[in-house]
Amino acid sequence: MRVALIGVLLGLFTVPGFTGGFPVLEAGRQAVIVYEAEAEAESAKAYQDLASYLKRSTGKEFKTVAEGEYRPGEGLPIYVGRCRATEEALRGDLAGLDRDAYIVAVEPARVMLVGARPWSTYWAVCQFLEDYVGVRWLIPGPLGEDVPQHSSLAVPAGKKIHVPALRSRLWSGAHHAGDWNLRQRIRSRDHFHHNLIRIFTPEKYWDTHPEYFPMHGNQRYRPGKEDHAWQPCMGIEGTVQAAADAAREAFRKDPTLESFSFGMNDGQGWCECPACKAIDRPIPDWHGFSGDKSVLYYTWLNKVAENLEKDYPDKKLGCLAYSSVILPPPFKLHRNIVPYFTSNRADYFDRRFRKRDQALLARWSRCAAQMGIYDYAYGVGFAVPRIYNHLFQDSVKFAYAHSVRGFYAEVYPNWGLDGPKLYAMARIVWNPRVDLDAVVRDWNERMFREAAEPMRRYFAIAEETWRRQKGAGAWNYRLAADPAQFRIFSPRTLERMTAYLDEAERLAVDETVRQRIHFFRKTWNLTRLLCGNYWTGAQVQRLIDRKA
Ligand SMILES: [Zn+2]
Repeated sequence: MRVALIGVLLGLFTVPGFTGGFPVLEAGRQAVIVYEAEAEAESAKAYQDLASYLKRSTGKEFKTVAEGEYRPGEGLPIYVGRCRATEEALRGDLAGLDRDAYIVAVEPARVMLVGARPWSTYWAVCQFLEDYVGVRWLIPGPLGEDVPQHSSLAVPAGKKIHVPALRSRLWSGAHHAGDWNLRQRIRSRDHFHHNLIRIFTPEKYWDTHPEYFPMHGNQRYRPGKEDHAWQPCMGIEGTVQAAADAAREAFRKDPTLESFSFGMNDGQGWCECPACKAIDRPIPDWHGFSGDKSVLYYTWLNKVAENLEKDYPDKKLGCLAYSSVILPPPFKLHRNIVPYFTSNRADYFDRRFRKRDQALLARWSRCAAQMGIYDYAYGVGFAVPRIYNHLFQDSVKFAYAHSVRGFYAEVYPNWGLDGPKLYAMARIVWNPRVDLDAVVRDWNERMFREAAEPMRRYFAIAEETWRRQKGAGAWNYRLAADPAQFRIFSPRTLERMTAYLDEAERLAVDETVRQRIHFFRKTWNLTRLLCGNYWTGAQVQRLIDRKA
């Protein structure tokens, strides 16, 4: 701990030309990148990217060698991954290290960049490149990469272990961003999505166990293909055993799996057999939230967890707290069950909505030992900026204090409108207490350099405008694909934001900066057009109403 702290302090006092630490490139001498013998997937990418970014930053070719072929005379080593030298030096730190955690250790004669797994080794390299070379991946693609130039490079000695606060971090809808997601430390380990449809397939069970499928009225329901309008019968032992066995099979096939999903199907169609009815006790609605099937579903899931615990005492059972099971049941969940609580935290601008939502999360935290949050962070469906970084950070702090250790969001980003949103989000779920203003300031400074100040204000107004909107917040897709969203950005706000873009364009000298501003300008022009159209329509309507 003491060593780690010293490392951080040294980091704070780094000054240009500092030569007390490890020389990456100094006086014609270069470090050598030494990788673990069995480097694969992300750990192979780790040493390759390290060499490639060091070259882009210094113009020098950095040698990469497998550990067995490294000769000390070639240069001081930067060890990447689980090299023998690293295993020996950091044995104590590596023992029991969380799979997403990683270590950046700098000594005067060697650097060690290592994670518990290949992907966390990759993150150790990202951290090194960010902290000491100054590389930034601000948005996906070449336009979002910022690689400072160095003619010499020395990094201060110190050791820091990086551990995520939220253990599982996943978003969907940004697949096109490729490596960028990986570099933002986005990687899940919890499984919680709709999955009963895949466990109980008619092909597997209809002939032998039709009783696994629900009674709808007097009829046993045979599901069609990709049919979500049903849930299996939850009143019989057979489905408990079959569900637990499905998880057993998955864990046996892939021992690295930490979790298996029992997320309900994305519809209703609950079983109405006498056994289910005997358990079923609908909880009254609470501010529009339903607990109609909470008792039935979570009673069943507790039995599955108890069954599975015999063979896999620590594996998790993920599920979705939403729809008719969004209210917690009046009993505790088995400690291995991890419900993902769905909400629309962008709408926390409405204090009443936020209060209710957090009251519900607090109720859940008394019922479940560990939870995840599921957010609707769009993106697509909006032609106005939907930036809510500060609301998001507050929500994650609250969630973290209430047993939440997992994060998932449907993001489907509007890169051209939402600027630093996902970049900030990734840092918040890694560390809910991160200095968000510093993160956003850095993002703007690195992205827009000489034009940073007006661009910072541009995005700050966008965020503030979202936060100050009137109206009631609501669960999931409020205002998506709805022209009412244009009402949030008044003509006066449109003018102010446009003026900051104009100012940024005037200040921009560097060609990359000009291109970056242009990237955001293009989308903003569309927003202005659509909002302008909305406000003109509203004005015409007022004139008509006055005449009438
Ligand atoms: Zn039933």
